[in-house]
Amino acid sequence: MLKKLLFVVLLCTTGLSAQDYFYKKFYPFNPDIPSPEAFLGYGIGEHHTRHDLIVAYLEKLATVSDRAKITYYGKTHEGRKLVILQVSSPENLENLSSLKEKHLAFTKPEENPTYTEDLPVFINLAYNVHGNEPSSSEAALLAAYTFVASEHAEIKNYLQNAVLFIDPTINPDGRDRHTQYANAYQGNPLVADPQDAEHNEYWPRGRTNHYWFDLNRDWLLAIHPESRGKLKWYHEWYPNVVTDFHEMGSQSTYFFEPMKDNGSLNPIMPKENYEDLNNLFGDYYAKALDSIGSFYFTKEVFDGTYPGYGSSYPDLQGGLGLLFEQASSRGHKQTTAFGEITFPFTIRNQYTSSITTVKAAVENREVLYNYQKKFFKSALTNASKNKLKAYTFNAENDKNRVKAFVDKLLLHQIDVYKNGDAFVVPTQQPQYRMVQTMFETYSKYRDSVYYDASAWSLANFYNIKYKSTTNGALGTKIKTTEDLVSLTPVPSTNYAYLIDYDDYNAVAVLNYLQQNGLVISSSFKPFTAATNKGEIAFNYGTLVVPVSLQKKTASEVHELLIKAQEKYQVPMYSVSTGYNTKGIDLGSGYLTPIKKPKLAMLIGEGINSYEAGEVWHLLDTRVHMPITKIPMRNLSRASLAKYTTLVMVSGQYNFSKAEEEKLKNWLAAGNTLVTVGTASKFVIEKEWVKESLTESKKDSTATERQPYVDAREFLGKERVGGAIFKVDLDITHPLAFGYRDTQIPVYKNNTVWLQPSKNPFATVAKYSSNPHIDGFITKKNIEEYLKPSASLLVSKHKAGKVILFADNPNFRGSWYGTNRLFLNALFLGNYINLPQ
Ligand SMILES: [Zn+2]
Repeated sequence: MLKKLLFVVLLCTTGLSAQDYFYKKFYPFNPDIPSPEAFLGYGIGEHHTRHDLIVAYLEKLATVSDRAKITYYGKTHEGRKLVILQVSSPENLENLSSLKEKHLAFTKPEENPTYTEDLPVFINLAYNVHGNEPSSSEAALLAAYTFVASEHAEIKNYLQNAVLFIDPTINPDGRDRHTQYANAYQGNPLVADPQDAEHNEYWPRGRTNHYWFDLNRDWLLAIHPESRGKLKWYHEWYPNVVTDFHEMGSQSTYFFEPMKDNGSLNPIMPKENYEDLNNLFGDYYAKALDSIGSFYFTKEVFDGTYPGYGSSYPDLQGGLGLLFEQASSRGHKQTTAFGEITFPFTIRNQYTSSITTVKAAVENREVLYNYQKKFFKSALTNASKNKLKAYTFNAENDKNRVKAFVDKLLLHQIDVYKNGDAFVVPTQQPQYRMVQTMFETYSKYRDSVYYDASAWSLANFYNIKYKSTTNGALGTKIKTTEDLVSLTPVPSTNYAYLIDYDDYNAVAVLNYLQQNGLVISSSFKPFTAATNKGEIAFNYGTLVVPVSLQKKTASEVHELLIKAQEKYQVPMYSVSTGYNTKGIDLGSGYLTPIKKPKLAMLIGEGINSYEAGEVWHLLDTRVHMPITKIPMRNLSRASLAKYTTLVMVSGQYNFSKAEEEKLKNWLAAGNTLVTVGTASKFVIEKEWVKESLTESKKDSTATERQPYVDAREFLGKERVGGAIFKVDLDITHPLAFGYRDTQIPVYKNNTVWLQPSKNPFATVAKYSSNPHIDGFITKKNIEEYLKPSASLLVSKHKAGKVILFADNPNFRGSWYGTNRLFLNALFLGNYINLPQ
């Protein structure tokens, strides 16, 4: 109650009651429909609202009103519901399936529909992809209430002419992590001091989802259930307008589009989208925010270059994606250079933009529909101007990696065909722009500072060796990836099983069999064996399961192999002799028995939560293997002796002397440390290993005078924001087992430059002489730093080993092409023997 009073006092400075503050303009409201305040028992802005209560309120609206219907599109990793509330006039909702059919005609170039007045515009009001940017979900409750309960003529008019799809929380797991935090530290009275705990969340904070992934990068990559569910929904409805609400640092105002001039030379986006439509909508937001006295900026800071944002993906789908950024109150009230920001104030701006989006879309329905139609038609005409008719690739020796890539293509509604062994992706299709996004690479850029990655050719993420062709032969259309890998069960043998290690899932099989107590060897040299499928040439790393050496019976061993094969669809063979036709025999000293590694990773304050989350996610979801996450705060009392392998991802490691000694002693005892990114730099600078960093030899003291106004942009210029480079791989090295090609793409988004090792056997991957594949990098970085450097090294520390990754092999859960290097480090790292 006291809080309620405080809230009223807060608002009384503007002379408004709680409800007046937000939606006075839209009185009267239907008294039979509960307001969020009535439902929750507190005023919006007084607390942070939990996701289950948000869902419960929207479910309530759907039961009490014929203007609303609740739908579900999935569940998060933590089991929270992903929901969309459909809101429109009762007549529109009743006829939604026929309206949908009319609407979708505009996405089909062959149908050529003409716009009619009775077709409502489809608007996806989507909120809170970043969990600790909480104002927008609260605004979603207010918007839902306004559209469902207001009897105001303006609102009723919008409902006649629009179907709203309100997604209140795109990232419920992250939101609730922050909600719990902000409510738990809320003072009474409120503490506006920025140093108060309420305004300073602890690691890993609420921005990301369960596995600490940024879901606002996952629209293209489609790794997580939140995005996968949403993409399926998206391609069922193709909304004309999509909102994407965020918060930025507290020392700011409000941002809406138009964005910074498109950073990239991006020929695939129609200019009409980011010039005409954004300016058209921009005028509406300016007017609405002016009317409530709010300040804002446009055309700076944010760019829509990367296509995996919630505000840029819709632009690639004939819609208009709109980014909003509110200065955060991060907590309930905070003092900033602009004065005090309150949570209700931030919510009101987001609410105002929500309503304004509907107004602008309704008033420009015809423009939006004509644009949508033109967008998909122009996809075909653009494609027909391209001499190139298709991209093709083969599954070669890793069907599961290719299957994962094809899954992405299909999820984005890209047509894929199978012609013999070849996969064919024709350019002539309505999703031509997505085809370009997946395969095309760029080397020319208009800008040098990006908000995020400047390379996203997904084919490279998956190490797909694709070719472009002017031949249009298609074959059969692929509808599902389910039957892309089909194997006959391996027949039983009393001698040995051979498991193909080239397959992406081979490591998961290895882990499965090790967990079930089997003794497995890795072949450190290739060989050719007579198998149940005839003579087969086996690559480095082939797994060998010797039957007589197991503690289980031959039939138990066979049963386990069959189970593993069913679960992971990896090719397996049986042999009845160890006397191979070429190369080493099965009793050779090059067959190394490998034990199950015991894994741990350091996490916590200062450590890059994205990279740590990527490791955790990789092991959980692809290998199904636990990894112990040791909080840095517990390191001094943690017992390390039980681990064989420790992961340190990028971060600031402020170890105490005792902690550093503890780690070095553990390492010296013969264990393996795997470092990624700046952690690799750290172990070199701290001299845990005798390696060095690449330094520029050129004198750069002569600096030209520059105008001060350019300083801000200049600061970001030498960053490597995210680009793709080619490395030369030693495929005879255990860390590169499973690869057949010495040239593979890697992803670099840091300035960690490792010098190749002085030990001739220790540089596993070095950037090749012509390394650029895709993305922005300065000439200086490429010539002075990249070209002379290594991407992956092994180094010794007494009896132990450190495996140093300069680049992140697990980037955003999407680098299937380099994941194997990392998994090899965990599973085979203990078995690398370097001569002195
Ligand atoms: Zn955000």
